[in-house]
Amino acid sequence: MVPFEVRRAHSVEEAVATLGSARDARLLAGGMTLIPALKHRLSSPSILVDLARIASLRSIESTARGRPGLWRLGAGVRHAEVAAHPGLNREHPALCALAAGIGDPQVRARGTLGGALANNDPAADYPAAVLGLDAQILTDRRSIAAADYFRGMFTTALEDDEVITAVEFAAPRSAVYRKFPHPATGYAMAGVFLARLASGDLRVAVTGVAQGVFRWHDAESALAKGHPLPRLVREDLLEDMHAPAGYRAHLAGVMLARALEGFPLGEAG
Ligand SMILES: Cc1cc2nc3c(=O)[nH]c(=O)nc-3n(C[C@H](O)[C@H](O)[C@H](O)COP(=O)(O)OP(=O)(O)OC[C@H]3O[C@@H](n4cnc5c(N)ncnc54)[C@H](O)[C@@H]3O)c2cc1C
Repeated sequence: MVPFEVRRAHSVEEAVATLGSARDARLLAGGMTLIPALKHRLSSPSILVDLARIASLRSIESTARGRPGLWRLGAGVRHAEVAAHPGLNREHPALCALAAGIGDPQVRARGTLGGALANNDPAADYPAAVLGLDAQILTDRRSIAAADYFRGMFTTALEDDEVITAVEFAAPRSAVYRKFPHPATGYAMAGVFLARLASGDLRVAVTGVAQGVFRWHDAESALAKGHPLPRLVREDLLEDMHAPAGYRAHLAGVMLARALEGFPLGEAG
């Protein structure tokens, strides 16, 4: 590890200012990805801006504003906190179950929603929920729609000095997440988030299978028309030591079929 300085931020404004004070400063949330990257010298920032003391990033709240079922989750909320939140479990059970299935107890105790979304690992679970539920990503300077946020492998719409502050999720009519986890890490070999939004729209968001999370539009329209499920065909399927591309594409179909078990498809409109 190359030596670095840790600066504890006590507000989002302070974090943004410190981040902007050096070109190679980096934010530190749960450290689940960043600390191993430092250890392997894949990243060598001179300053780490620790977000853990910023109270406003740690809240989970139901935000009334005339939209029942709208929840705002702070970027610093840990996976275990999402999994265990009683109110959130009532209105967003699929989101809480997704959080409960991330990694292992240590990862869930430290890893954060904001860290997961900033990192945007192509096999991460939260991106599927964020895209599948049409969530809004709030930062220190703007609100970004899920459709505009994910830009491919480990790439997002965030600017270098931008801090995610929260994510807003509107409750769907129904939602379910099914993944085939990698046996060593829990990361998705294929994960499918299926949702019927409050508007009646059906969403199929897929992670773990391609260069980044994506909506499986052919499956969405087949389901809407009552047609048989299509085969997943894409140019950017992941192929690595864990699985060939065709296997991952097949798994996506299997996960969608599992998600559909008991899903109330007939409730459009
Ligand atoms: C063994 C292991 C198993 C895992 N299994 C899974 C799994 O099954 N599913 C899954 O989805 N994930 C999994 N993860 C990932 C984990 O859940 C974390 O979400 C992820 O490591 C990043 O979150 P973090 O809070 O630790 O962020 P950090 O490691 O602290 O930061 C990651 C990146 O995000 C940036 N960042 C952090 N917070 C913000 C913010 N608020 N605004 C802007 N940028 C920010 C940092 O600068 C850094 O670049 C696993 C990780 C490990 C180590």
